[in-house]
Amino acid sequence: MNNQQNMKIVDTHCHVQMEQYDHDRDEVIRRARNAGIGMICVGFDLASSRAAIGAAEKYEGLYAAVGLHPNDNLTEEYDQAEYEELARHPRVVAIGEIGLDYFRVTDPRLKEIQRARFLQQLGMAAKPIIVHCRDAHTDMLSMLAGKELRGVIHSFTGTTAEMRAYCSLGWHIGLNAIATFSADYVDMIRAIPADRLLLETDAPYLAPVPYRGKRNEPSYIEGVGKFLADVRGVLPEDLFRQTTENAKRLFSL
Ligand SMILES: [Zn+2]
Repeated sequence: MNNQQNMKIVDTHCHVQMEQYDHDRDEVIRRARNAGIGMICVGFDLASSRAAIGAAEKYEGLYAAVGLHPNDNLTEEYDQAEYEELARHPRVVAIGEIGLDYFRVTDPRLKEIQRARFLQQLGMAAKPIIVHCRDAHTDMLSMLAGKELRGVIHSFTGTTAEMRAYCSLGWHIGLNAIATFSADYVDMIRAIPADRLLLETDAPYLAPVPYRGKRNEPSYIEGVGKFLADVRGVLPEDLFRQTTENAKRLFSL
């Protein structure tokens, strides 16, 4: 069976390069592949971006994204040339995760640094972008407006109006188990255009019920997809087919 046939679901955002998987990474990835799950392994600083590429070179059906997260590694001095070099790697399908995270940030200078870093990394966007945005949708929307960019707002927990604003700028919306934790998201989940919805786990974080609080992994994505299909009133197999088409189209998988 070739790689394309064996990709019924795509986990568009996971971090299986992280140390949480050092003792059983092969098994975690095999479980996902046996269930027909493709993966995008997302970097958040230089070391994790290099490790994502390493994993993508080793495992079939696993792709990489490279970028510097707005607040995961404030000690890393941003090296544009180095990231550009990584971004050119043929197994790299996206730039990310990059963006803005104002949660717990009160110093306006730190927000300014985040915006500057984000803008610099947008410059590498010959490839689609995986955006991390927390408590910063107003600034993010104004930074993306008027730019010829495509990508996904990952782990989206904004309002229906913000979701619509991203979609009207051409962006996709990535949902994981966080969207299943509160009834507040139901209307937003229903309103996402079918051709803009992407599935993700954000593993090792955000494990869905019944694994909540434990380590997450890509094979748990089916539970998230079934929940979202139920909320949207569609069959799970239709939701998986549509979101997989969306991921393949956006990331050229
Ligand atoms: Zn992430």
